[in-house]
Amino acid sequence: MEDIVNDRPSTDASMNTLVSLCKRRGFVYQSSEVYGGLTSAWDYGPLGVELKNRIQRAWWRAMTQLHDNIVGLDAAILMHPRVWEASGHVENFTDPLVDCRTCRNRFRTDQMSEELLNARKCPECGGELTDPRQFNLMFKTHLGPVESDASVVYLRPETAQGIYVNFKNVVQTSRVKVPFGIAQVGKAFRNEITTKNFIFRTCEFEQMEMQFFVHPSEDEKWFEYWKAERFEFYKRLGVRQSRLRFHQHGPGELAHYAKVAFDIQYEFPFGWKELEGIHNRTDYDLRRHMEFSGKDLSYLDDVRGERFTPFVIETSAGLTRTVLTVLADAYDEDEVEGEKRSVLRLHPELAPITVGVFPLVKKDGLAELAGEIERSLREEFSTFYDQGGAIGRRYRRQDEVGTPFGITVDYQSKEDRTVTLRFRDSMEQVRVKIEELPERIRRAIREYRRMGE
Ligand code: ATP
Repeated sequence: MEDIVNDRPSTDASMNTLVSLCKRRGFVYQSSEVYGGLTSAWDYGPLGVELKNRIQRAWWRAMTQLHDNIVGLDAAILMHPRVWEASGHVENFTDPLVDCRTCRNRFRTDQMSEELLNARKCPECGGELTDPRQFNLMFKTHLGPVESDASVVYLRPETAQGIYVNFKNVVQTSRVKVPFGIAQVGKAFRNEITTKNFIFRTCEFEQMEMQFFVHPSEDEKWFEYWKAERFEFYKRLGVRQSRLRFHQHGPGELAHYAKVAFDIQYEFPFGWKELEGIHNRTDYDLRRHMEFSGKDLSYLDDVRGERFTPFVIETSAGLTRTVLTVLADAYDEDEVEGEKRSVLRLHPELAPITVGVFPLVKKDGLAELAGEIERSLREEFSTFYDQGGAIGRRYRRQDEVGTPFGITVDYQSKEDRTVTLRFRDSMEQVRVKIEELPERIRRAIREYRRMGE
């Protein structure tokens, strides 16, 4: 595995700590590890897939369920190759690269220092660099048995185009009216050259995108609305506000389709980086698809009595990148009885396991009672039963994977049907009646605030 870049001097999670926690506890494994691993591809283990699904559900709920004018879509990864000509990806979706003639390494010029670039010197070995050339990031494959130019298709580099080409279908088959949005979560693929930093930048990743179609005169208003809304989303996921900020794209940074673009950035252990982009894509995409397909994708607004091509405000977030954000943000260390404790301060809605249930000892019917409690909570919460080892160790194991609540069944429980409910962050323990557990946990989830925030 490549070395992880970490230049932030603090007590927070270093990338190495996170990577090893993710591996050790089954969040993220390197792809094809038994064969030595595949660069920049990662697999989500039992806890990782739970975390990822919970983030995805939170996004889907925030975008579709909590808005009455956003509908969902799940488009195919493979699309007609003309889509990518119309979108501008065949022509423009490129990174400028140079090769080293000595060590054969390849670098993105936009990520190199001026000095090395001007001297045409390799950052790795000091060897001579080639002239820059444009390298397209789309993965190509062939549809059907014949590998010819005519059978080339691409793995989509963004999910957005699946939405634009279905714009008319959605307008005609659901009751949406401009302004309205289409939301989609799915895989995207980019042949990235620099894939450092774990799951931050990978060749295969997942996006959560929403395209909001508006009247051209209202683009600025809706842009501001979505900018604010999306920032709030990360705060609601429990991400610390002090680690979030906006970054506006300058003229040199703007994508070929964008009129205005803001990134929401997070302060990762390796610095401030993009987490989500909010873009005013104007009518660029619909217009291009009209030109290339010859189909009319304009919209007839019967309230305004006007036909127009809507502008699009896009919110484009990385699901897998949000997994990294949430993990990096949640990681904390403190001290318990003179020992270091690693704890993931995950929002309870995101934690892969919500409640750990532990009998103090296995004998004297405590295991049976704990098992009963665990089964009764399963319907509503994701639970985990653990009877192995000292109770302190069992707490520690759950703290490390972010389980917000622990229930301990002891001898007193048999007498008065109360248990200890332990809170991960404060380690506070309270005595609760077994019947009152669901409501106590529900309330604690609802009222959750990260300590010190
Ligand atoms: P970057 O500048 O980081 O390459 P971008 O500006 O090309 O990103 P967009 O095309 O705006 O990114 O994609 C929207 C979101 O998709 C990004 O904010 C990010 O969260 C996610 N994303 C993009 N590329 C990758 C990748 N290679 N790996 C993981 N997530 C990605």
